[in-house]
Amino acid sequence: MITNKGKQKMRQKCSVPLCLKTVPEFLNFIYPPRCGICGKISENFLCVKCNKVLEGQAVFGIDKTKANLKSFENHLYIFKYEGIIRNMIINYKFNEKSYLYKTFVNFLLKNKKFFKILKSYDKIVPVPISKKRMKKRGYNQSKLIANELSKKLGIDLDLNNLLKVKDIIEQSKLDGRNREENIKNAYSLSTYAISKKTLENKKIILIDDVFTTGSTVEECAKTLKNANPKKIDVLTIAKD
Ligand SMILES: [Zn+2]
Repeated sequence: MITNKGKQKMRQKCSVPLCLKTVPEFLNFIYPPRCGICGKISENFLCVKCNKVLEGQAVFGIDKTKANLKSFENHLYIFKYEGIIRNMIINYKFNEKSYLYKTFVNFLLKNKKFFKILKSYDKIVPVPISKKRMKKRGYNQSKLIANELSKKLGIDLDLNNLLKVKDIIEQSKLDGRNREENIKNAYSLSTYAISKKTLENKKIILIDDVFTTGSTVEECAKTLKNANPKKIDVLTIAKD
């Protein structure tokens, strides 16, 4: 005969794994994944119709570094910063449509060439934002993309080494030359990076949302170089 205590033990043994197994399914049932663009229920956060629209806009470009940007080697980008893409990114950054990162990353990783290139890095580093900006916006748009890429590709997300140490005027409010001046010395390498040598000899992909003059990623890459990485490339959703 099974005692009450025994029954309780059995229940505990069975209920935990079952519970854990069904939670994501249950959440999917209440909050099914939706297309980030039109809101239609869609498994990959991007419906067939909107995927076609993005495909029509995608360029999947790779640019070699220019003379004034010499701290990284290549710049990879999915779109030109114009039309519907420009609106999407503005909504993503400023109008609280933070969920769009899943749509961007799912679309990006469907491209075989980019998938293969991205798989080759050791560390994913997002462009950090200041604490003040974080408090105002509630999220770092580059970190969301970096985190999703890290999960999908199985590559280390590195958040401890590149730090934003200066609160600056928003770059989008300035023109080229002033951007360069504004961003100067805004980033720093943590003492952790130097003491633990976590980035030494590593291939780094630096993530930002939009590439305009390149002064933000250049400043970040310049800072990261002090940790002696093997290579630094840049990935942005769009290029202006
Ligand atoms: Zn859609």
